[in-house]
Amino acid sequence: MGEKIIPLADHRYAAAVPTVPGRLVAPTGLLGDRLGRPLHDLRISVTDRCNFRCSYCMPKEVFDKHYAFLPQTSLLSFEEITRLAGLFVAHGVEKLRLTGGEPLLRKNLEALIAMLAALRTPGGRPLDLTLTTNGSLLQRKAQALKDAGLQRITVSLDALDDTIFRRMNDVDFPVGEVLDGIEEARRVGLGPIKVNMVVKRGTNDHEILPMARHFRERFGGQVVLRFIEYMDVGATNGWRMNEVLPSAEVVQRIAAEFPLEPLEASAPGETAQRWRYADGGGEIGVISSVTQAFCRDCNRARLSTEGKLFLCLFAHHGHDLRALLRGGYDDAQIAAAIGAVWQARDDRYSELRGQQAADPGSGQRRVEMHYIGG
Ligand code: SAM
Ligand code: SF4
Ligand code: SF4
Repeated sequence: MGEKIIPLADHRYAAAVPTVPGRLVAPTGLLGDRLGRPLHDLRISVTDRCNFRCSYCMPKEVFDKHYAFLPQTSLLSFEEITRLAGLFVAHGVEKLRLTGGEPLLRKNLEALIAMLAALRTPGGRPLDLTLTTNGSLLQRKAQALKDAGLQRITVSLDALDDTIFRRMNDVDFPVGEVLDGIEEARRVGLGPIKVNMVVKRGTNDHEILPMARHFRERFGGQVVLRFIEYMDVGATNGWRMNEVLPSAEVVQRIAAEFPLEPLEASAPGETAQRWRYADGGGEIGVISSVTQAFCRDCNRARLSTEGKLFLCLFAHHGHDLRALLRGGYDDAQIAAAIGAVWQARDDRYSELRGQQAADPGSGQRRVEMHYIGG
């Protein structure tokens, strides 16, 4: 088979990426994986630690005081993260999302944000730079994040009812402080703000309507509430299908009180299906990772806290980029490695969920969400 030249966004590294016979180039003309999906979005986990113990992510019984979180020396430094991010950008990444664990727990995160905000696409455009947080430290940090160059923010919030919220974060954290954090984020101009609610049937599904009402009335179109189906990530949350409330039911329940109309996706690879309130009261989104998988458009890579590259939320293994960074490899060599890993990607766990083929490594332990970055 003839060799194929893989076009890259930044041709400095084009020669360095191994040419793999028969591998696809994405329809964008950029680096593509085996299913033709481009590399567009990088999620960076900046810490594996969290001050919450949401039962669907870091259940208290497992993540107790004996749990061994990563030592400081294992974490990628801000310089290492920025260097890698630059190489991903050279391969076509245009969107960076900082996550964790709880990203606002990482000391001096503003410095990292400033470094990432200075990156440019090969065409000279700034990146879409955002962050997902549980909101607990947002009131204190929103201004500094904005000043450092963060553009927008996503806040996770599973209930408005204080008793349910405290039970779900499992550290007795009051909902009022997260709501104050959202107000502050809006005040400093971190927007548009998204609020993510993971829906667990029987735990917080009766909070769907109060949440919809609150964000419509309080913020009009300025905060987009998104409902996420409870997923079987990791190996510790005891996931059961009967606790998943399908997004179609979320839409039905909201539409019964506030008529909804479907909207087009805002970008290719967008995970949320968008709906708008027919009366002009803004929009909502639903992320149906379980009942309507969207793997065919999945253009996201994930960089773990210690520098492993993961190609899927449900992966068992990552590719160790920290070893390359600390092993003296130059940018072209690391870019080549990233390119080769992406070209070999064929992950589509959610599409195959329930079939044997979904999880060829099912004897092994899956990575946890707080480590890989949600
Ligand atoms: N700590 C931050 C937060 O909670 O926003 C960022 C990291 S958290 C892992 C990222 C997102 O993953 C959150 O919106 C969280 O609700 C979501 N998440 C965690 N476990 C999940 C699960 N089992 N199913 C669906 N979403 C989940
Ligand atoms: Fe922490 Fe976010 Fe996981 Fe909750 S979902 S335990 S806030 S990392
Ligand atoms: Fe992407 Fe994996 Fe989720 Fe499919 S299951 S959408 S490939 S992260």
